[in-house]
Amino acid sequence: EERLVGCEVKQEDRDEFSLRPRKLSDYVGQAKVKENLTVFIEAARRRNEALDHVLLYGPPGLGKTTLASIIASELGVNIRITSGPAIEKPGDLAAILTNLGNYDVLFIDEIHRLNRSVEEILYPAMEDYALDIIIGKGPSARSIRLDLPKFTLIGATTRAGLLTAPLRDRFGVINRLEMYSPQELKLIVKRSAGILGIEIDEEGADEISGRSRGTPRISNRLLKRVRDFAQVRAEGYITKEVARMSLNALEIDPIGLDGVDRNMLMSIIDKFAGGPVGLETLAASIGEETETIEDVYEPYLLQLGFINKTPRGRIATKLAYEHFGLRYE
Ligand code: ADP
Repeated sequence: EERLVGCEVKQEDRDEFSLRPRKLSDYVGQAKVKENLTVFIEAARRRNEALDHVLLYGPPGLGKTTLASIIASELGVNIRITSGPAIEKPGDLAAILTNLGNYDVLFIDEIHRLNRSVEEILYPAMEDYALDIIIGKGPSARSIRLDLPKFTLIGATTRAGLLTAPLRDRFGVINRLEMYSPQELKLIVKRSAGILGIEIDEEGADEISGRSRGTPRISNRLLKRVRDFAQVRAEGYITKEVARMSLNALEIDPIGLDGVDRNMLMSIIDKFAGGPVGLETLAASIGEETETIEDVYEPYLLQLGFINKTPRGRIATKLAYEHFGLRYE
């Protein structure tokens, strides 16, 4: 199913590259993370060392890949971008590691999806910049240790809890990315509009940022969809009215909920009397993967305070009932 506010990267995000900020100063929001990283980057540079390994976690589309690229460019080094599922065998990772330059950044997206045998290669690589390889078979097998370039691993994942403890422990810097405020998203919308040459007024930008679920990727995506409406129906200029009309036509409500969100909330309210309902049961009832619910749908609903997680399952809150004009009892 096509989901406009879904968080996975889609074909239409391909110009994401051009919308990506290149400098820490252009990276909107995440004040705490930026402040810390600025210090660590400066310290690593002064000591002429590799930056400590960095773990970034948070829902998709919040800027983990973007931040990794900025870190590399602030360090003045190259970045190699890959992902957990793309590295199939230990040899694949060994090849990537031996091809890095000194102080380079290796970015592994969805690092929680590395398979076990690959992950084990990472431990000595992260800790000692070393690669242990086994030569030969049976009783004559022996292990030799190869030196690797000093590098910085930046790992990204949706939830830190998905990582194994030994992997998590090897990151010196662990940062959680937060959802963005409407004001921050508005800056991103205006910046992207500038880059793409889209005319938009203040209120038009407010309307889009308010419906972006705290997520820059969604802001950019909605901006492009609204532009289509504006070009066909309103001489290319995005005002509040144009934005509202377009987003309503796309069935994204004023706080950014779409059909899937509504379905999930109404399912908790109607089928499960407001909850608590277990994650598995809820997933089955709306035909979604539990992981998708946890990574994609839930973070924004939790942020809004529309659902709560309890030990016995998810419950819909008073706010959720009120959003649908229902009585809460
Ligand atoms: P993630 O890796 O967390 O899924 P990305 O780094 O790919 O997210 O970000 C998605 C898009 O959102 C980027 O292409 C970029 O245009 C935009 N973006 C993300 N974070 C920011 C930010 N802090 N400031 C401006 N734009 C951002």
